[in-house]
Amino acid sequence: MQELTHYIGGEHVKGTSGRFADVFNPATGEVQAKVPLANGEEMAKAVAIAAKAQPAWAAVNPQRRARVMMAFVGLLNRDMDKLAEALSREHGKTLPDAKGDVIRGLEVVEYCIGAPQMLKGDFTDSAGPGIDMYSMKQALGVTAGITPFNFPAMIPMWMFAPAIVCGNAFILKPSERDPSVPLMLAELMEEAGLPKGILQVVNGDKEAVDAILYDDTIQSVGFVGSTPIAEYIYGTGCAQGKRVQCFGGAKNHMIIMPDADMDQAADALVGAGYGAAGERCMAISVAVAVGDDTADRLLDKLVPKVEALKVGPYTSGNDVDYGPVVTAAAKANIERLVQTGIDQGAKLVVDGRNFSLQGYEDGFFVGAHLFDNVTKDMDIYKTEIFGPVLSTIRAKDYEEALGLAMDHEYGNGTAIFTRDGDTARDFANRINIGMVGINVPIPVPLAYHTFGGWKKSMFGDLNQHGPDAFKFYTRTKTITSRWPSGIKEGGEFSIPVME
Ligand code: NAD
Repeated sequence: MQELTHYIGGEHVKGTSGRFADVFNPATGEVQAKVPLANGEEMAKAVAIAAKAQPAWAAVNPQRRARVMMAFVGLLNRDMDKLAEALSREHGKTLPDAKGDVIRGLEVVEYCIGAPQMLKGDFTDSAGPGIDMYSMKQALGVTAGITPFNFPAMIPMWMFAPAIVCGNAFILKPSERDPSVPLMLAELMEEAGLPKGILQVVNGDKEAVDAILYDDTIQSVGFVGSTPIAEYIYGTGCAQGKRVQCFGGAKNHMIIMPDADMDQAADALVGAGYGAAGERCMAISVAVAVGDDTADRLLDKLVPKVEALKVGPYTSGNDVDYGPVVTAAAKANIERLVQTGIDQGAKLVVDGRNFSLQGYEDGFFVGAHLFDNVTKDMDIYKTEIFGPVLSTIRAKDYEEALGLAMDHEYGNGTAIFTRDGDTARDFANRINIGMVGINVPIPVPLAYHTFGGWKKSMFGDLNQHGPDAFKFYTRTKTITSRWPSGIKEGGEFSIPVME
């Protein structure tokens, strides 16, 4: 059995806490490795190394720091297949989807190559007699990030690339479900020229997270994961005086208007609802059809597509639409919620309950499920299922459909399918959700825009990547300077006012 490590001070380091978690191959259900779960002492060691290494890294000019990112992009491309294979083996997603996971992270690394421009400060010449005023963006120091299982390459890169290019040291606490790719990324960053100790990976669970939250040296914490943990980390981190941004769960609605192209809408729902087995924070999990006739026309197209979905291990290559879910516990939770949906009166129009794959009977596969006649009081509507389960709600008109999405506690992403520009524009303006698609089912913004939800999907002020990341990972300092030739004799007792 493979024993994974931490990556501390540029070395693979064995865990010393004596605690481990199992890492599964979700396709076979086998335990393929064990990952060490760090204690406070191990975290403190990484923090001390980071604090020692960071000032010299912050003093490296931004262009040279950007060159490390440039080299890293080359290495990601070189090792793309290897990274995707390791990712699929622990997560279960298909190989093309695993490559997408790496590529969407790589795009943020590419954006970070623009750091010399992004980090330029402001300067006012002669703000007063002999006085100049300038501001600069300085690194925070030691920063940390805690990431979820569902994007083990993309989300760590969304955090560590901007943090590091801004001159910070970064400690990554990845998900204990799929820690291999984060470890590989740390090695690649050093191969790209990053000094040791600037990017470290400390594996663990709540104990390691609490060690981050209560460490006085760590200046900022980024988190992506489920909403209850996001709320805990935001509350605790802020109370400890840290800068914190936390991104939580989702229940993304797609509204289908009567004038929508039903073929397009059905195709969009199949990809956005079932891709990655529904384990995406931007997955569509609720289809809101406006009017019974729209719902009937939509389901006529959708049902055969859902029934035809191919589910299997990543080793089947392009023949598979989605793979297993991440753990047996995740599978059991999805099955429990499906049963709740049936018990509470929703109509199961595609029943994936008896799905089984020959040769992979112990894998964590879940068949595709499609519900009709879901109502807003049902648990399957209120809860994030995070599995291949799509709920259809029938709304009587546009206002009711809009109200459903607005009233839901989550506000990560949403979409509307329509041919009417007025409706699309009204939706984009009024909806209280952070990322909106118009005839686009998964509106994940590109690296040079920012990513973030509203309501219970996000806690904090600044989004991920894009210009917000450079704000999150720097502090502004403003200097007012007067050289002796401009200084008048005698003290000044009233508040300085520029003449
Ligand atoms: P999770 O909340 O279980 O775990 C996320 C991280 O928190 C992991 O590193 C885990 O080790 C740590 N953690 C777990 N329990 C903890 C505890 N009690 N105290 C402290 N830390 C703890 O989430 P997950 O299952 O890995 O990921 C799926 C969730 O992430 C979904 O809810 C999904 O919507 C969300 N997600 C959100 C976004 C977004 O940008 N909004 C993106 C991806 C995933």
